[in-house]
Amino acid sequence: MAMKKLGEKTYVIENLVNVGIYLINDNEVCLIDTGSSKDYGKNIAKVLEENNWTLKYIINTHSHADHIGGNSYLQEKYHALIYAEKTESYFINNPLLEPALMYGAKPLDSLCTSFLMARPSSCEDIKNMDIEGLKIVDLKGHSFGLIGVATSDNVLFVGDAYTSERILNKYAIQYTYDVEEFLKTLDYLETTNYDYYVPSHGEIEKDIRKTVDVNRQTTLAIENDILNILDHKHFYNELLNELFLKNHIKSSVEQYHIIGTTIKSFLTKLVKEDKIEIIVKDGSLWISKK
Ligand SMILES: [Zn+2]
Repeated sequence: MAMKKLGEKTYVIENLVNVGIYLINDNEVCLIDTGSSKDYGKNIAKVLEENNWTLKYIINTHSHADHIGGNSYLQEKYHALIYAEKTESYFINNPLLEPALMYGAKPLDSLCTSFLMARPSSCEDIKNMDIEGLKIVDLKGHSFGLIGVATSDNVLFVGDAYTSERILNKYAIQYTYDVEEFLKTLDYLETTNYDYYVPSHGEIEKDIRKTVDVNRQTTLAIENDILNILDHKHFYNELLNELFLKNHIKSSVEQYHIIGTTIKSFLTKLVKEDKIEIIVKDGSLWISKK
């Protein structure tokens, strides 16, 4: 795994999931996220050993399995303290909550894979965190309580607060728990002025305005597509079907639930804005424009 230095104390291991490293003193570090698996954790440990660093803390930007996958291995090996926003910490301590949230009940076995469910690790509320040189920034929307981590080198690790344009082109609809907050977070990020922005997926950038706007436009385009589909289709499953076909989304049990919960988040926003109403008709959600 290749490591890049972004400041005096700030490093990043660039990979499918970018992992932040912050030097809290000459030989102890705090990680920002741990990747998607135990193997990811082992590779991080290798990088730490090569640099004679030991792991003291982990901050998880949020609880999705691809960000906390190395937690359990690394916590066992180094007895590291793990922090996340309070609600996210419940998911990190009880990873079954993630597929349960997607499914809305005890989840199917096919949802309880490493893609959606990491091994549990012991995580505390970020409010208890006091690491000199690190500041926590609220970036919720993508998930319940996603946080960014700003370092004393003026670098902001943003987790999944936005996604790079390249990845967004590949996955037309990105998972979003709260579309309204997601858009507010994009607006907020545009007002910030960090030297480097490190998203979990994609390229490190100095100026994120274009990327942030692509995320905003993609989100607004989905909202527009939903409203257009509602001109001729009204049942929730028909709406989902059209969105799957239009965006060439792979038909799988996982994608059905990930995309389905995201579309429901759009519906929540549209109901709140009084643009649509939802009733139950013939045992199914029936959605109409106002
Ligand atoms: Zn995520």
